[in-house]
Amino acid sequence: MIFDNFNFPLRYEEPIFRPPSEGNSILLQLTIGCSHNLCTYCEMYRTKVYRVRSQSEIEKDLFRIKKYYEKNSGSVFSKEQPRKIFLCDGDALGAPDSVLDFCLERIKFYLPWIARVGTYATATNILEKSEEVLKRLKVNGLEIVYLGLETGSDNLLKKVVKDVGAQDMLNASLRIKNTGIKLSTIIMIGLGGVDFLEEHALATAELISKTKPEFLSFLVTRPISGSPYYKMMEKGLIKQVSEFQCFDQMELIIKNINLPHENKIIFRANHVSNFLPIGGILGKEKSSILEVIQTAKRNATQSPLSLNFNGPM
Ligand code: SF4
Repeated sequence: MIFDNFNFPLRYEEPIFRPPSEGNSILLQLTIGCSHNLCTYCEMYRTKVYRVRSQSEIEKDLFRIKKYYEKNSGSVFSKEQPRKIFLCDGDALGAPDSVLDFCLERIKFYLPWIARVGTYATATNILEKSEEVLKRLKVNGLEIVYLGLETGSDNLLKKVVKDVGAQDMLNASLRIKNTGIKLSTIIMIGLGGVDFLEEHALATAELISKTKPEFLSFLVTRPISGSPYYKMMEKGLIKQVSEFQCFDQMELIIKNINLPHENKIIFRANHVSNFLPIGGILGKEKSSILEVIQTAKRNATQSPLSLNFNGPM
């Protein structure tokens, strides 16, 4: 299917996903699918067979993007010209070093006006790369990595069949921080249901306090029909949380994140799965963020969230 935004010339292998903050970025598929593809709650790439795209496929896409913007330069589009590229699909950092090196070098060659390259990564992807390689990727343009940490609870990571435990999440986060690449950590509110409310919150707050990512985002777990996670909920093996409990868990996480005075984390809960957009800077705005969450909690319903969430994920 052709991505029909102003006749944008790339043919994507759909479905395709990106973080909310990459909404205005050019999307470039470096890999197809997810190299793990087993997390019980995730159906994003279940229909895809994982593969790394060839250098010639990547080069053709970049050439088409260059031609597209050249054709439109001087028109209204030039002002809107994105300055960011996001590498898809689910864990593009898992591509071999040579493919990543090639891609970043070709982005510079064809699209020298690009100021920032971002990608999703798993902890496994990160730990498979040496610090030296990651530093080279940073020098060549990789500016931000989005890590689906989901929770700091080791038990819960195992339960949802993440491919790593909490210690690996910690090590991977610190490795990214050491390279100077910005780290954006994603947490899944409500993951594991009622039984994990407190454990998930406290372990997550501890991990965030230790890793101090530049960005932190919350999304609310919305089970996808047919997923193993959804089936466990249908059988009553995972008890669905309420809106109230989600805000309660958010409050517990934020309250328990301890940062040295000089540290700041840009916090967002603006993914479509959230009940209302919340944002701010942790530490200096921690108390105002907590006030917003506490107000939302007072107005929240106590009945379990519907299993039929229709929003895009
Ligand atoms: S690693 Fe990420 S993209 Fe892959 S299955 Fe798990 S949640 Fe989905």
